[in-house]
Amino acid sequence: MTNELDAELPVHDFPTATSVTEFVQNIAEVRGRIAAAAERVGRNPHEVRLLPVSKTVPEDRVRLAVQAGCRELGENKVQEAKRKSTNLADLGVAWSVIGHLQTNKARDVAAFASEFQALDNLRAAAALDRRLQAAGRSLDVFVQVNTSAEPQKYGLAPEDTEAFLRELPQFSSLRVRGLMTLAIFSSDVPRVRECFVRLRTLRDRLRETDPDLLGDAGLSMGMSGDYEVAIEEGATCVRVGQAIFGKRQTPDSEYWPEMATEDHA
Ligand SMILES: *Cc1c(COP(=O)(O)O)cnc(C)c1O
Repeated sequence: MTNELDAELPVHDFPTATSVTEFVQNIAEVRGRIAAAAERVGRNPHEVRLLPVSKTVPEDRVRLAVQAGCRELGENKVQEAKRKSTNLADLGVAWSVIGHLQTNKARDVAAFASEFQALDNLRAAAALDRRLQAAGRSLDVFVQVNTSAEPQKYGLAPEDTEAFLRELPQFSSLRVRGLMTLAIFSSDVPRVRECFVRLRTLRDRLRETDPDLLGDAGLSMGMSGDYEVAIEEGATCVRVGQAIFGKRQTPDSEYWPEMATEDHA
């Protein structure tokens, strides 16, 4: 797919929402862009789930976002997610953990999360399953793949993904929902797009090999800077923080240390 985006990703200023009205506006803006991107490639916008990402956002502002219509929230770090899920329990939102999991935090995730999007090792799968079985719960999971062909810390190599998926049925509390990736941190659209194409191609190939491997074979890809490109390439879930909540002060290297030297979108 080629269009006017195929040069540099646009630079957005991501205004900070501090009232329900402003959240409603930001969410409407994102939903409008989701719909436009889907329509450009003949997709139904309803196939794309918007997962708002509330990391670093204080709880009082998260409450406003929920009042504005957010029914589920993504958090990168287990500690922060756990705190928010406790303090905001009255809101009844579904929590999605989208960042790397240390095995010693599996119990926490099993207790409060409804989804984990960054599964990339069997130790974490085993630890989660044990805790989930004990709690009588199940968890939706996405398997994280490293599509940027760079030595990243997190995510499976595409060529290792099939073998990994074949191990997962033994963990019966985990419901595999699809694949997840982070594109390369770059403002160069063709390089970003290539990552999304790689994930979709892998998904298609795995689905053809064995339709049971991947559940409903979703594609979680795209964040504030690149979700429109991701949707053009087949994303079924976009994880959007700054475009809803406002520009984050915390540098991205806090979440992805290996990317500290990349040029950022
Ligand atoms: C923070 C984060 C996002 C959202 O990033 P924004 O730039 O705020 O949209 C998406 N995915 C993961 C894994 C994240 O940690």
